[in-house]
Amino acid sequence: MLTGMPSYICPQDGTRADITALTWCCPACRGPWDLEFEAAGALSLNSLAGRVNSLWRYEEVLPLSSPTTTLGEGRTPLVPVTGTVSAKLDFLMPTLSFKDRGAVMLAELARRLSPERVVADSSGNAGTAVAAYCARASLPCTVYVPEGTSPKKTEQIRAHGAHLEIVPGDREATAAAARAAADAPGTFYASHVFNPYFLHGTKTYVYELWEDLGGRLPDAIAVPVGNGTLLLGAALATAELHARGLIDRRPALIAVQAENVSPLAAAFRTGAEDLLPDGPAGPAAATLAEGIAIPRPPRARAILAAVRESGGTFLTVTEDQIRAAQLDLAARGFYVETTGVACWAAVGGWTDRSVVVPLCGAGLKTGLAG
Ligand SMILES: [Zn+2]
Repeated sequence: MLTGMPSYICPQDGTRADITALTWCCPACRGPWDLEFEAAGALSLNSLAGRVNSLWRYEEVLPLSSPTTTLGEGRTPLVPVTGTVSAKLDFLMPTLSFKDRGAVMLAELARRLSPERVVADSSGNAGTAVAAYCARASLPCTVYVPEGTSPKKTEQIRAHGAHLEIVPGDREATAAAARAAADAPGTFYASHVFNPYFLHGTKTYVYELWEDLGGRLPDAIAVPVGNGTLLLGAALATAELHARGLIDRRPALIAVQAENVSPLAAAFRTGAEDLLPDGPAGPAAATLAEGIAIPRPPRARAILAAVRESGGTFLTVTEDQIRAAQLDLAARGFYVETTGVACWAAVGGWTDRSVVVPLCGAGLKTGLAG
């Protein structure tokens, strides 16, 4: 079952590792892996009719197929909100956030590798998704979350039977605790940041857009960016579709950060290829957009390059804009969590080109911003 699996490869120095070795980062530079993966075949729009109604319908372009861990994730509705802006309702996922797209890949991979334990870390939604899919796969799972994580999310993680570790300090302290646990032999680190299978799951977001729009993509795709998992998945998909001649041009990727925690936007503005070395020391200012409050994203170089290559840009939103966007979306019938409204806050008023915003997480996860 494991023959023909792709290899991990380090984008910085070309180091390779076998996926079965459970090596969660590059041993040379401690950076995140990419996946050395060639799609099995070309996807054609006409061949999709009648397939399973989940993200697994795009099997030709996924690194895993015939899963047993699925909860029916994917195929979320695309709904016009204004004349030019449409919303993709990724909060209508089994665990109520877009993270299910990547978590199902990690859990299915883990099931095939049969580790002694799975660990994950998260500001909430990724951990919740990993907990749910590990439950589905009957895998023992520990999720590390920072103190101050929304009680609704920790309750959901516990409900799935995962062991919860609440780590004092900020999001980086939580990541460090999880990485220390991930180094123990026999551990599969279900990291949405370091494991590239997650990105091959989130790329289905764009394949669904492409299918729903009849083989086309909008002028721009806006995504909230913390660790960049949805953005990098979107970049993978647009590159694959373009390389196979399935789209004429790539859409601009519009990366949205909370102004209070915007290290990537700051680097982008100066033309830097990586995070600025003199970024803020110590804990960043608080933001309502807890899901994208990431001061030092490990895939910063890849995120900055992807946005530039697409002809896109970075936008930042204030706390007041986040509050207003949550109320505005709710007034239109969409109850979305504070992180998931950031893109609407940034581009909801656009009228000059078509753009899709993801509504990434359900409002019930965080409640209404005060
Ligand atoms: Zn490396």
